[in-house]
Amino acid sequence: MSEPLIIVVSGPGGAGKGTLVDALLERDSALWLSRSWTTRAQREGEPDDAYVFVSRDQFHRRIGDKGFLEWTEFLGNLYGSPLPGADIGNDIVLEIELHGAKQVKEQHPEAFLVFVRPPSREEQQRRLQERGDPYHHVLQRLKKAESEEREGTALADIVIINDDLERAVAELLAAIGVARSLRG
Ligand code: 5GP
Repeated sequence: MSEPLIIVVSGPGGAGKGTLVDALLERDSALWLSRSWTTRAQREGEPDDAYVFVSRDQFHRRIGDKGFLEWTEFLGNLYGSPLPGADIGNDIVLEIELHGAKQVKEQHPEAFLVFVRPPSREEQQRRLQERGDPYHHVLQRLKKAESEEREGTALADIVIINDDLERAVAELLAAIGVARSLRG
């Protein structure tokens, strides 16, 4: 059996990565979504299983145990992808920001990096505000998006503009199909 394909979905906050990944998982049952750890507080209305919500102490202990495939500090909070078990079998999807995506690419150059871009700054801002984050967080994320988009576009195997969800998912499924056929 071939090694699982690692699919990294990255992109700035408000690009709609989460919605795209949910739609992707619904349509491709051979994909397994990695659940990240974070020290960020759970948002109101956010599902309990959106992350493994932990304290900074717990997070640092896991770093010490070399338990992360990648981790980073993003706007004051720690986020990390636990090392996947050896028995997963399925292809793995990581929905992470760009610094983490770069770490995965360094360790696994064969990983398939998808960079998702919002259709416009206005739409991105609207999506960020909808989540109920404080306004200064929305502004921080919009500012960060500028550099993330430059770097991400250069680094990615495919850039997807998330204007129409159906089209974006179809594009992504087709690209994953090609990546699978190339892995040998
Ligand atoms: P949020 O606080 O909006 O849930 O996530 C902030 C950013 O962190 C998003 O871009 C999200 O994709 C990213 N993120 C979520 N989990 C991880 C992770 O395990 N590692 C890294 N590097 N980024 C993550």
